[in-house]
Amino acid sequence: MNQKQKFSSQLLRWNKQQNKRQMPWKGEKDPYKIWLSEIILQQTRVEQGLAYYNNFIKTFPTIHQLARAKDEKVFKLWEGLGYYSRCRNLLVTARFISKELKGKFPDSYESIKLLKGVGPYTAAAIASFAYNLPHAVVDGNVFRVLARVFGISKAIDSTDGKKHFTALAEELLDKKQPGLYNQAIMDFGAVVCKPAAPLCDSCVFKKDCYAFQHNKVGELPVKEKKISIKKRWFYYLVMEYKNAIAIRQRTDKDIWHSLYEFPLIEVAAASSVNDILKQAVKENWLKAKGYSVRTLSPLYKQQLSHQFISGQFILLTLKTKPANDGNWQWIARKDLQRYAFPRMLRDFMHSEMQ
Ligand code: SF4
Repeated sequence: MNQKQKFSSQLLRWNKQQNKRQMPWKGEKDPYKIWLSEIILQQTRVEQGLAYYNNFIKTFPTIHQLARAKDEKVFKLWEGLGYYSRCRNLLVTARFISKELKGKFPDSYESIKLLKGVGPYTAAAIASFAYNLPHAVVDGNVFRVLARVFGISKAIDSTDGKKHFTALAEELLDKKQPGLYNQAIMDFGAVVCKPAAPLCDSCVFKKDCYAFQHNKVGELPVKEKKISIKKRWFYYLVMEYKNAIAIRQRTDKDIWHSLYEFPLIEVAAASSVNDILKQAVKENWLKAKGYSVRTLSPLYKQQLSHQFISGQFILLTLKTKPANDGNWQWIARKDLQRYAFPRMLRDFMHSEMQ
């Protein structure tokens, strides 16, 4: 038996005898629930995604119920998960399947991959878990396990690397039980061959694992590109006028699209509150002497995949309504919780507006 054949049988033995990882969607065959869990777990840790998954299933037990829901309600349920394009795609796909396909989830890899928000990884996961079709998942866990066990130094974010890992993953896949195999390799990467401090001493592969045998565990997998992080400074004006607070929906092609926020002044570097207020007067959001500053929040920070946001909130009471409030809505303080806000704004409201 060569190393590749041995790998699959060892992995499945580990899965049977030692894998204790529990997840509510494990063994699930309903493609709707699998799809929902996979979309939630794209760019989200299992621990964080779990409560969201349970909430979605409870609120929308079927794809028709999700498809019929108002955007606002779904966004509110998604609030805090980030990467909101996933939520928009979720709605588009639910409505497409509910209406155009009469609620019947596509049942081939190719037709699943055509759904909005579904890439090769998610399509392989749904196809193998729901329909036991032989398509290998290739996610961060799989890249890591294969790079280490087989000593592959091709970059996992290069075209050549992706091709190589995908071909190897397909070759290793147990074609008779692809769903079980796919779940096993992802679990193995998540609980044993972890990114930091993998459990090599008790690992079933340690005798054959290239990285362990050659002391290269910390060097594999290899990545080509360093992500450049853009820094942005957001100053929010939390304006209260006659017991109502101004909010607006983000509609530009930018982060947090469709979510709500307070009127925002974005600047290129940290600025003084005075400069921000002057800018607000220029925009006709404030009258020179028509407001008073109640408080100033501490600096909030949020790290996104390619951006680092610093945000500060200036709480103001207005004596007169702004001249330029065309796309704002004036909402009673108690009703703010009905709207979906980015995490940084929600954190601010929880700690400073209760
Ligand atoms: S020996 Fe260590 S690096 Fe190799 S597969 Fe096992 S956990 Fe991963």
